[in-house]
Amino acid sequence: MLIGLPKEIKNHEYRVGLTPASVRELSSHGHQLLVQSGAGAAISLSDAQYQAAGAKLVSTAAEVFATADMIVKVKEPQPDECAMLRPGQILYTYLHLAPDPEQTAALVKSGAVCIAYETITGPGGGLPLLAPMSEVAGRMAIQAGATHLEKSKGGMGILLGGVPGVPAGHVVILGAGVVGTHALQMAVGVGARVTVLDKNVDRLRALDLVFGNRIHTVYSNAQSVEDAVLGADLVVGGVLIPGAAAPKLVTRDMISRMKPGAVVVDVAIDQGGCFETSHATTHAEPTYLVGDVVHYCVANMPGAVARTSTFALNNATISHAVALANKGWKQALRDNPHLKAGLNVCDGKITYEAVARDLGYDY
Ligand code: NAD
Repeated sequence: MLIGLPKEIKNHEYRVGLTPASVRELSSHGHQLLVQSGAGAAISLSDAQYQAAGAKLVSTAAEVFATADMIVKVKEPQPDECAMLRPGQILYTYLHLAPDPEQTAALVKSGAVCIAYETITGPGGGLPLLAPMSEVAGRMAIQAGATHLEKSKGGMGILLGGVPGVPAGHVVILGAGVVGTHALQMAVGVGARVTVLDKNVDRLRALDLVFGNRIHTVYSNAQSVEDAVLGADLVVGGVLIPGAAAPKLVTRDMISRMKPGAVVVDVAIDQGGCFETSHATTHAEPTYLVGDVVHYCVANMPGAVARTSTFALNNATISHAVALANKGWKQALRDNPHLKAGLNVCDGKITYEAVARDLGYDY
């Protein structure tokens, strides 16, 4: 199969769909790789590395789209990219179609076979191609929070780990899923005092088994959230109710009673956020103040660490890419119901029920 790797064109997107190691892996299965020159340059993956891995370089995206049987990307195709897709061509990338009627219509019109990373399921449940980005965002939440606790960034001027003779800062984590677990690991690692809340006691049990008395686990309800938040220096919001808007666990009133200079990092902002006072921000201007509380609500946190995120994403995507290339999409989907769950648009039709329902297409 001829596999194409275009450079990402979405604003401030520096990740790339295939690393040179992934190109080598696909090449070793006998496939040809067509890579747009400069595709990985922003994260120090050079054209020479892609060539050494077996890719042929071309200078424009148009050349990639015109001939490749499968296009591998990171972000949803932009209008110019949708216009270059062909009937029967495989598109393997994040799509997030439900809130995006324009992109959906363009993909339907293209006749391409569009497989979305975010709806591919895993044998153990969950969404394994989405999880790496939650891991990145969870870990980054502590890094971002620690930075914004510095005085020059509007914070109260404390070091999360404290020093001998001075107590550590108190980190409260709402949600003990992927984001929460990875935030917790980092917070424990820097020596902070950590409290984690969840409604799912099994998640709290799992963390208690690993971290024991180095953390406090608390069942989440309005009272326990209020108690924890009012005593916190840094609060990380990582709750999710699948398919629904994030519950507003922290009210405006609670924010007004938090310590001056405390920081909240609302990772769940892509689902509307779990603080009543949250609104989405960007890496260019990541924070704003509500009273004396710093709010960090960046909706695409992994974009800031594009190199790490690219490698983490490739680890999760490469095995399905190899299956699609080796077997062709029809056989690969027949053989693996988890990969089949990724098929969102095919041959001019919506093939994912929730997208069809939300956007009014036949299913
Ligand atoms: P997850 O499903 O692994 O974990 C969510 C947890 O929230 C679950 O354990 C669930 O029991 C818990 N929860 C639900 N309601 C709760 C409540 N009332 N109180 C306490 N806990 C509650 O999800 P995840 O992968 O950790 O993702 C969390 C959020 O972070 C999602 O909205 C995801 O889209 C978002 N996210 C954002 C970014 C970003 O860049 N901002 C990046 C990755 C993920």
